[in-house]
Amino acid sequence: RTVYVNGSYLPEDQASVSIFDRGFLMADGVYEVTSVLDGKLIDFAGHARRLQRSLSELDIENPLSDDEWLTIHRELVRLNDIDQGMIYLQVTRGAPGDRDFAFPDPAVTKPTVVLFTQNKPGLADTPMAQKGLKVISIEDIRWGRRDIKTVQLLYPSMGKMMAKKAGADDAWMTEDGFVTEGTSNNAYIVKGGRIITRHLGNEILHGITRAAVLKFAAEAQMEVEERSFTLAEAADADEAFITSASMFVMPVVELDGAAIGTGKPGPVATRLREIYLDESRKQAI
Ligand code: PLP
Repeated sequence: RTVYVNGSYLPEDQASVSIFDRGFLMADGVYEVTSVLDGKLIDFAGHARRLQRSLSELDIENPLSDDEWLTIHRELVRLNDIDQGMIYLQVTRGAPGDRDFAFPDPAVTKPTVVLFTQNKPGLADTPMAQKGLKVISIEDIRWGRRDIKTVQLLYPSMGKMMAKKAGADDAWMTEDGFVTEGTSNNAYIVKGGRIITRHLGNEILHGITRAAVLKFAAEAQMEVEERSFTLAEAADADEAFITSASMFVMPVVELDGAAIGTGKPGPVATRLREIYLDESRKQAI
């Protein structure tokens, strides 16, 4: 695999970063994941915009222009011959000479940029979409700025492991009794034909797939309510699903061991998945 590190395209085993990089020592950095379908980028503009916002919130200067980011993404798709898969992008604050809590002087310490591809043939046609996911609920004990897409992913990883241990696929996190989001995706329920998903705020990541799906849903005259919902509401919903760049729209059929609705992927989630895949393929660049 050919990866990108700080201006160079290299075989992955020749790429390296400093042990003093603050991404490594302090999880001081942000990332984006953009999916690739038919060798093209899905919603690149949305990911570039959110990257800029995450960096600004942490006072890290964006090291590249949107055009430069796009060129690197396309070059990696070409060099690695990706038809379906993902591109992972990470910007960390960089490597000052020593470890210190204070941010280093940005005039001296430049951010570290790393990108690599993940080849996932069949990503859009995964049998998982016919089966649906099982989720468990766990307490959301992450920090208070979940709208910034930082590389600080230990609790979401632990949540994923708790789900696996319980024989499930993922975990939905709750705070004050309300569902925030999945470990790496936004959460939705459907009740009486209405799509309900948590409103934006600091408590969740502002999903790029979420924004696209809500727009497509509105265009298809589906009713959308952006508000928080409880676990009890989710348990009583007609159907449920999640969205993320790598899963697109994925039905959820079980919560804490009990079926949601019929226990099979519902019509709204199934239709939204089709619309999302069709429309984003048309708009891919
Ligand atoms: N919420 C969290 C916590 C995530 O980690 C992700 C994606 O990684 C999402 C939501 C979905 O965001 P997107 O649709 O931009 O991939």
